[in-house]
Amino acid sequence: MRVLLVEDEPALRERVQAALAAQGFVVDAVADGREAQWLGEEERYDAAVLDLGLPQLDGLSVLQRWREAGRRLPVLLLTARSRWADKLAGFSAGADDYLTKPFEMDELVVRLKALIRRAGGHAASVLRCGPLELDTLACRFRLDGAQLALTAGEYRLLACLMHQAGRTLSRSDLSERIYDRDFDLDSNVIDVLVGRIRRKLAPHALIHTERGLGFRLAAE
Ligand code: CA
Repeated sequence: MRVLLVEDEPALRERVQAALAAQGFVVDAVADGREAQWLGEEERYDAAVLDLGLPQLDGLSVLQRWREAGRRLPVLLLTARSRWADKLAGFSAGADDYLTKPFEMDELVVRLKALIRRAGGHAASVLRCGPLELDTLACRFRLDGAQLALTAGEYRLLACLMHQAGRTLSRSDLSERIYDRDFDLDSNVIDVLVGRIRRKLAPHALIHTERGLGFRLAAE
């Protein structure tokens, strides 16, 4: 899962980035509104955490421009303001959720995960596909009830497939979601990761190859 974090206060940006990275998210962190607008339109993110007060272009305008450009990613707004009129303006601009500073980091993480789940059509915090379960709050997979040991890269890839279970994701869809924008892409990396995950999921064959298209997670 790849998240765009837009916050101009360096200490807070670093804390949020570290908290999200610790939860298995790939995070692109930027400080100004113009860069945020550009990234949100050009890159593929599963969600954005967007501060309202930003240099160059304020968060509300960034959000409006994303929505005008047809970008539907879930957006969690951060703000120092707590007036209802400001919240209303945020929701009218297309925000999905709101946090007023100062906030608990755990609350940000839980809200963001809920937004991503709902965007994937999942209401519950535990996702299931046949014998495989993902507890999105604990960031743990279980197979046949037993905890599955995965590397960080394997976890990110399998979590992407799980959130989009039943749908085919191309190698580029997957690499964009599991690596940040500085990663020098070698599509073979995805095949190597898929191979390793398949061995860990054996004897269940849950990851299907769609020739020429990509990979799909589905119960046998
Ligand atoms: Ca700010």
